[in-house]
Amino acid sequence: MPFKLDQVVTVHLSIADETGEVLESTFGSEPLAFLSGRQQILPRLEERIATMPIHGKSTLTLSPEEAFGAYDESAVRIAKRSSFPEGAPLEEGMDFVAVNESGEEMPFMITKVEGDDITIDFNHPYAGKTLTIDVELIGMREATPEELDHGHVHGAGGHHH
Ligand SMILES: [Zn+2]
Repeated sequence: MPFKLDQVVTVHLSIADETGEVLESTFGSEPLAFLSGRQQILPRLEERIATMPIHGKSTLTLSPEEAFGAYDESAVRIAKRSSFPEGAPLEEGMDFVAVNESGEEMPFMITKVEGDDITIDFNHPYAGKTLTIDVELIGMREATPEELDHGHVHGAGGHHH
């Protein structure tokens, strides 16, 4: 059964790559909350959660295509140090957000620093990875009018503002 639209769905999840290394996990910390039917999480993951009872647990494995896409070599560029804000510390592993001509935000990561040449990668950090996700459904409730207005969840697992 698909979710009713606009439920606040709260889950714990843990994401591991194909070697079993855990990339991120909410177990033991704040859970993740999302609005159903709004493409806020991976579609295959949302489909699976929709089949689970409250407090149910499940594990699914997603190919890169079902998760964050294949790794795209053409999304790796070399930028000059001078194209970054002056004095910005530039180190491998740092995340930045570029804004393109249409005002769209394009997150990227610095993957190499060699003198003036800064290698930057616009791929999603999990691009090209087969992901195994352990998920536990914590709870579900109707979204409030304010949450629907903002398009995100408030409170535990959501925005605090
Ligand atoms: Zn809000």
